[in-house]
Amino acid sequence: MKVLVAVKRVIDYNVKARVKPDKSGVDLNNVKMSMNPFCEIAVEEAVRLKEKGVASEIIVVSVGTKSSQEQLRTAMALGADRGILIESEDDLNALPIAKLLKSVVDKEQPDLILLGKQAIDSDNNQTGQMLAALSGYPQATFASNIDVVDGKAKVMREVDGGMQTIELNLPAVVTTDLRLNEPRYASLPNIMKAKKKPLDITNPDDLGVNIDSTLRMLEVEPPATRSAGVRVADVDELVDKLKNEARVI
Ligand code: AMP
Repeated sequence: MKVLVAVKRVIDYNVKARVKPDKSGVDLNNVKMSMNPFCEIAVEEAVRLKEKGVASEIIVVSVGTKSSQEQLRTAMALGADRGILIESEDDLNALPIAKLLKSVVDKEQPDLILLGKQAIDSDNNQTGQMLAALSGYPQATFASNIDVVDGKAKVMREVDGGMQTIELNLPAVVTTDLRLNEPRYASLPNIMKAKKKPLDITNPDDLGVNIDSTLRMLEVEPPATRSAGVRVADVDELVDKLKNEARVI
């Protein structure tokens, strides 16, 4: 079984994002970049499927600048067999990315396609759903367990107030939620080995995909800053302030 995993290079989750002064986006200069955490979970799941003997090959694909090779190498150090970079300098949104991933799906014909449920930079939560629609494949979003048996994927999904289990015919698209697994760290020998794994570089023109955007980001704003709190001397003062200043009790 061939598994395709889409991984995105994003601002590291530990970094406090700074908005550019002209509000045109987040300032990525000299900022630590990493693999999107939900994509790490997707890679880990693919590696576990291979370790169980269910998957035979893991291909990782990323759409982005040359620097995204770093995240593809990380995925290969974690256990992916080969990588594909669809190189683009453009800041693409979900639909063009889904179209590019679809062209890789058409070429590679994977049985299972894993994506993160969302990228932590744009919080879109759209790409997997769009890819499933474009490919005409069934989809399971927010997966917290995946079993592949007899050519079908049984996926437990995190839904409001509980869990839902669904069965999908393969090929299928599955997006990963936080509790699906805990990704491993790459060992040094595996990081060295990953440098020798095949990494193909292509681009939207070569894939014949039109990446014209139908939406435009207008403005990004940082969250409102919280005003400083007040220290109270005792419970009486607290109750007094809640009653007479905040008027909440
Ligand atoms: P999003 O819909 O942008 O929140 O992203 C959801 C998931 O789609 C991510 O976790 C990735 O698996 C995949 N994805 C989004 N953007 C890219 C990209 N540029 N390259 C590869 N995969 C991507």
